[in-house]
Amino acid sequence: MNTPLQKLLENCYDDLLGDLSGKVADYIPELSKSDPKRFGISLTTLDGHIYDIGDSQFPFTIQSISKAFVFSMALENLGSNHVESVIGVEPSGEAFNAIRLTADNRPFNPMVNAGAIACTGLIVATEGKKAFDKIHETLSRFAGRKLGVDEEVYRSESLTGDRNRAIAWLLRNYSRLPENVDLVLDVYFKQCSILVTSHDLSVMAATLANSGINPVTGEQIISPYVVARTLSVMTSSGMYDYAGQWLYKVGMPAKSGVGGGIIASLPATLGLGTYSPNLDSYGNSVRGIRVCEKISSYLNLHVLSQKTDIKTCILADYGLSGISSRRSRRHEEVNILQDHHDEVRIIELIGALTFATMDYVSRAVITSSANLKYLILDLRRVSGITDAAKILLNSLQNDVEHNGIYIIFSGRTISSDDLNHIASKNTLLKNLNFRILDEAIEWVEDDIIKRYAELLNPNELVSLSEQFLLAGFTDKEIETISGLCIERNYKSGEQILFAGDSSKSFYFLLLGKVSVRLRSGIRLSSLSAGMSFGEMALLENLRSADVWADTDVRCLELTLHAYNNFTKAFPECGEKLMKNGALLLSQRLRMANAKVDILSSSN
Ligand code: GLU
Repeated sequence: MNTPLQKLLENCYDDLLGDLSGKVADYIPELSKSDPKRFGISLTTLDGHIYDIGDSQFPFTIQSISKAFVFSMALENLGSNHVESVIGVEPSGEAFNAIRLTADNRPFNPMVNAGAIACTGLIVATEGKKAFDKIHETLSRFAGRKLGVDEEVYRSESLTGDRNRAIAWLLRNYSRLPENVDLVLDVYFKQCSILVTSHDLSVMAATLANSGINPVTGEQIISPYVVARTLSVMTSSGMYDYAGQWLYKVGMPAKSGVGGGIIASLPATLGLGTYSPNLDSYGNSVRGIRVCEKISSYLNLHVLSQKTDIKTCILADYGLSGISSRRSRRHEEVNILQDHHDEVRIIELIGALTFATMDYVSRAVITSSANLKYLILDLRRVSGITDAAKILLNSLQNDVEHNGIYIIFSGRTISSDDLNHIASKNTLLKNLNFRILDEAIEWVEDDIIKRYAELLNPNELVSLSEQFLLAGFTDKEIETISGLCIERNYKSGEQILFAGDSSKSFYFLLLGKVSVRLRSGIRLSSLSAGMSFGEMALLENLRSADVWADTDVRCLELTLHAYNNFTKAFPECGEKLMKNGALLLSQRLRMANAKVDILSSSN
């Protein structure tokens, strides 16, 4: 079975296969030998999947497409100030090989020959004789494989490229090229003769679409800053004198070459590479242009017609009313938490945090109740955070903390370095990060309890009469049970119960904390002193989960055998205990229901 995109590309290929209009470039004699029937389409996705149709593996010379990559290399290696002092970024409105410079004697932009030769000159000025090898190596990294060179085309252009020689000497006249003009020209002719396929071009284009990271090899070739500058000049000047119409109709940064190749690079989406040597009067591949037009209009990929619904970024927005972490708590603690539920706000976010979504979230945050003390932002489902979003988030964090509110992140680590690096260097905020939302909620609960309950000493021994499961028992009944229990002590980190073991007893926690976990390590609940565990033994024969000591633990074990004997003597106690157990289960169910409700009713 083919994917929808594979089918779309195949249809496009079939529709255009018979179109042999235009003609192959012949001003470089060797190029006139190209076979006009050759036709390849490739598309690389940002997860590195490559769709190839037709002659996608047929090699041809990269020609002017090299200009985009050598420009990015110059920006990366020499910095934008230096490059911009030599080459402009304005569309020229003239033919690609015009012998004309701007009023201050710079080439108009790096996509016309004058600018591209000046760019190659910059590489020669720093790399000398190694310049071509450096360019060759960089273009190969963009493609993810060692590219070849067409020596015939190189020689052919070298023998006939007098117009480019004229441009180069004009540049030298204005000191825009290093002394060794012949070497610059030689490197330029050679870089134009590097062999690529439409397959390679699509990977190179996808690298630009993917913030400079080759999506196949994973290598960062150039920085996002350089990518944005390169795509900018491709957008304004990449398609010869057709650039305006191209942007209007196709709307993707692109570059074409007289060898018959085109790259189109849609940021954060895809890279396209096409090969068909027949050119139109502008020097662009006829079928290449048609492929890009069709794909762009069919899928509405125009870079300026993107839309998004920012409100969907908030998946759920709730407080602590009816909700708690998986830690079971004594009822004094539960009461404190319910009394202060409006001090907590939990916002679960989803998708990409961008300028627009982060602004929406921050507007939601500033409408919080005056009692807010803890703001938890759960980022587990956040797929990425743009620089603009980081700047807004950092500022929100400053404001929120300035108002005495904790901002807490879960599901994704946000380091203060991350935010401060992008925003202001002066703010040194210590971030509270938790692996999962439940841990963040538990931390908040602990903090609230600490603030409001100096009375509740966590190291205090909770007697049997205060056990939730034994609520309503008389002193005599408690005393009898106490005589039947065996005291057990466990060290922090010790495993107390094992899933799958037969359940022969249950436990009352007198001191410390335990957690109930699945084999996978996922925590089902945490229990503090006053709670019982293993009580499912009253209903089931086998333990359904592991129980671990989170701190040093003291508990009382009651075997089922002893319990059964006890209930024979005190039948009403069996009933009371089962009722307390059922209450516990119903509380847990109510909590789970509240969570389901929050997640399904938001938005
Ligand atoms: N090597 C070619 C030249 O400078 C490249 C032209 C192009 O592809 O536009 O004439």
